[in-house]
Amino acid sequence: MSLQWEPAWKTIIIEVDGIKLKVQKDEVTGLLACPICGLGEKATYFFSERDLIKHMISHKSRQSRHYIPKEVIIGEEEN
Ligand SMILES: [Zn+2]
Repeated sequence: MSLQWEPAWKTIIIEVDGIKLKVQKDEVTGLLACPICGLGEKATYFFSERDLIKHMISHKSRQSRHYIPKEVIIGEEEN
């Protein structure tokens, strides 16, 4: 018996501040996975889109060259 849950990842589109992002959401727990960290051992999970975005912005300050991968961003609205 494992203590780990078995996630049912589904790709969803979230939109925060006019930026649409393609992220993985676990339909079992509702957790969102950071698309930059990925789903492997380095995965980072969030319950809210806001927290996920904050985390993704922190990637930018840590490693600006590896900010949000282009394939993750679906569209960006002009403000
Ligand atoms: Zn991350």
